Amino acid sequence: MEDVVIIGGGPAGLSAALYTLRGGKGTTVIGKDGGALWKAREVENYFGASRQPSGRELVETGRSQVKALGGVFLEEEVTALEWTDRFTVTTTARTLEARAVILATGASRATLPIPGLKELEGHGVSYCAVCDAFFYRGKTVAVLGAGPYARHEADALLPVAASVTLLANGQPLAARFPGKVTVEPRPVARVLGEEKVTGVELKDGTVLPCDGLFVALGSAGGVELARKLGLPVEGGKITVDAAMATMIPGLFAAGDCVSSIQQASVAVGQGAIAGLSALNYLRTLG
Ligand SMILES: Cc1cc2nc3c(=O)[nH]c(=O)nc-3n(C[C@H](O)[C@H](O)[C@H](O)COP(=O)(O)OP(=O)(O)OC[C@H]3O[C@@H](n4cnc5c(N)ncnc54)[C@H](O)[C@@H]3O)c2cc1C
Repeated sequence: MEDVVIIGGGPAGLSAALYTLRGGKGTTVIGKDGGALWKAREVENYFGASRQPSGRELVETGRSQVKALGGVFLEEEVTALEWTDRFTVTTTARTLEARAVILATGASRATLPIPGLKELEGHGVSYCAVCDAFFYRGKTVAVLGAGPYARHEADALLPVAASVTLLANGQPLAARFPGKVTVEPRPVARVLGEEKVTGVELKDGTVLPCDGLFVALGSAGGVELARKLGLPVEGGKITVDAAMATMIPGLFAAGDCVSSIQQASVAVGQGAIAGLSALNYLRTLG
């Protein structure tokens, strides 16, 4: 049986693993892909970085640190998590048993099958205004969405961008938007640009030039595993206490699946707390 299984190989999961491994506990990290930070072309706001590393560099370095400490990294998808007197983690390739589990699955960012949207992620298509607004100072940006999350992103962009257009994409508005935001109700056909976003084409053929497109279709958390265990989920986030503990003994959660502030620094900090809490929990088991 594993001491600790961490579901999620992004900043939160990898940071948690550094603490459990250094505390002497066998740790397996499972990540189906590089997570959100992997997509960041450059990270400007991470403490101590002397230049602007890409998100991928940060994640790969974190993985190397975990492996150097003897941690196991599995690139597999977790399909089930069960809890009896122990945890059973099922992946697409195996079943693992663990004394403690840390959920660090990130936020599942809602998206739409609009041509160009996925292709231009990190090249003008962003999912985080607080991260990327600064890159668009004095530029023309659009926000794709119609609800409170889109309003939140528009509010973050208004003080820096030259103009903010809300692309409601045929949806009724589910939030009030400031007068400075131009609301475009027509459906979107595709995002334009080769190397970076240059605009958006609407279904009636109209082209709206823009330098950046912020997707804010809602921030559904990666919380399905927790839900299946009957854990409380509020606003798409797993409920935890200050020690990042859920209501199930030995189950902790950290990062974007917990926090409404979706930042690498926050995920790393919460991962550290979750890792230390898992160590404390394992000590109580003897
Ligand atoms: C384009 C972009 C740019 C960004 N830029 C910045 C920035 O400049 N500065 C900053 O601080 N933040 C930035 N962020 C936000 C930052 O990336 C996130 O806050 C951070 O990555 C959250 O870390 P996390 O570990 O909680 O989740 P993630 O990094 O999303 O990692 C989640 C992990 O869980 C795994 N996972 C999920 N479900 C399963 C499953 N069922 N089975 C197996 N594995 C699973 C994923 O594969 C992944 O490994 C950016 C985000 C994006 C998308």
